[in-house]
Amino acid sequence: MSARTGEVYRVAWLPGTDVLHGTCHCGAEHTAEDPVAMWEWMLAHPEGHRPPGATARGNGS
Ligand SMILES: [Zn+2]
Repeated sequence: MSARTGEVYRVAWLPGTDVLHGTCHCGAEHTAEDPVAMWEWMLAHPEGHRPPGATARGNGS
């Protein structure tokens, strides 16, 4: 399959751990031990995502 959507998600296991490390197409990064939690995080974009440059200052929840 070729990905041409422009939205790229990358998920990889951190070697030697049970931790997943994911990178959203927006540049936000996230780690989780549960693959389901990882996908929920990605699918929840942009909720909970903090792209580089964005300043989190208690802006809502
Ligand atoms: Zn995102």
